[in-house]
Amino acid sequence: MDDIQKVQEGVFLNKKVLVRADFNVAIVNGKVKEKFKLEACKKTVDFLSAQDGAKIALISHLGRPEGKVLKEFSLEQLKGELETILGRKIVFVADCIGGEVKKALAALNSGEILLLENVRFHEGDEKNDSEFSAKLAENFDVFVNDAFSVCHRNQASVTGVAKCINGFAGLWLQEELKNLNCVIHEPEYPATAIIGGAKIETKLPLIQRFEKMYTNILVGGRVANEAIDQKTVLSPKVILPFDFADDRLDIGEKTILRFKEIIANSKVIIWNGPMGKFEQPPYDRGTREILDAIIESDAFTLIGGGESVQVLEERGLMDKISFVSTGGGAMLEYLSGNVMPGIEALRVKEKK
Ligand code: ADP
Ligand code: MG
Repeated sequence: MDDIQKVQEGVFLNKKVLVRADFNVAIVNGKVKEKFKLEACKKTVDFLSAQDGAKIALISHLGRPEGKVLKEFSLEQLKGELETILGRKIVFVADCIGGEVKKALAALNSGEILLLENVRFHEGDEKNDSEFSAKLAENFDVFVNDAFSVCHRNQASVTGVAKCINGFAGLWLQEELKNLNCVIHEPEYPATAIIGGAKIETKLPLIQRFEKMYTNILVGGRVANEAIDQKTVLSPKVILPFDFADDRLDIGEKTILRFKEIIANSKVIIWNGPMGKFEQPPYDRGTREILDAIIESDAFTLIGGGESVQVLEERGLMDKISFVSTGGGAMLEYLSGNVMPGIEALRVKEKK
């Protein structure tokens, strides 16, 4: 992390700054869920705003519009919520490239920030089209990436734009790296990884990496069922459930007790993926009890993953965890030791 360019090292006076944020939140009946994702960029926005004349535009994707302009995926829906969270007036721009953005930047008053329309309304983003990247960059002097959750993607608004203008890591992105590095490099022992959720293909690399580094790997959820059915070869450090609720929709009582004992004795705990089909009670029991045990422990605790964080948020327990990662797929990739193109793009190097 030492060799990436950080916002603290840049000068943003009178600069036009494009900030990649992660506003890919669930919106249910017009209400924004996952507000912590909107909050994540606040420190970076405050930091940049404190530099005289800096003009900030926030850019993000929302959902999967696949290159089409679809109202249900418009970032305009987040304007009010973002104004409250960031404590600033936000000017929405109905596109993320072109003359409209240029005009809005010129007209921006001090204290205001721009919110650009969904970058995935253009196909060029996911295709990492170089012409599109150039268009994203042309209205700006510098790029700041504060969206850890997309750093595993080679996309225009993540990597492409950083080839055209100088790119810096935002404060949230740095916070993510610091905390994730902290649980993978020389954690305090006993260290326990709890892995659950839906698909073994996505979780197996993580289980295998933790087999090398951690004391215990507790596996639940459908991932465990699949490992059992496929007779996946795992180290003796991996503990699979030995009893279940109906149809293996949740881990069983004895397994919960065993997992809780291990959790209570751990110094570091990382958790990704629910222990059962938690959306359908009573199959939320395993997830609930494991989460309670994590919270009661004195360990350094780190949680990430779409559904895992959803459980935390629904129960109002976000501030009981040492660090909550905004990365689902990105966190899995980073913890599995894979190269992250979005972070590579911020490495210190001579740029145009
Ligand atoms: P995360 O987003 O936190 O990484 P995943 O996406 O891997 O988690 O998995 C979450 C999904 O896994 C949930 O929708 C949950 O219902 C499902 N799930 C977990 N365990 C089971 C199970 N035993 N049977 C059926 N579905 C399960
Ligand atoms: Mg998920």
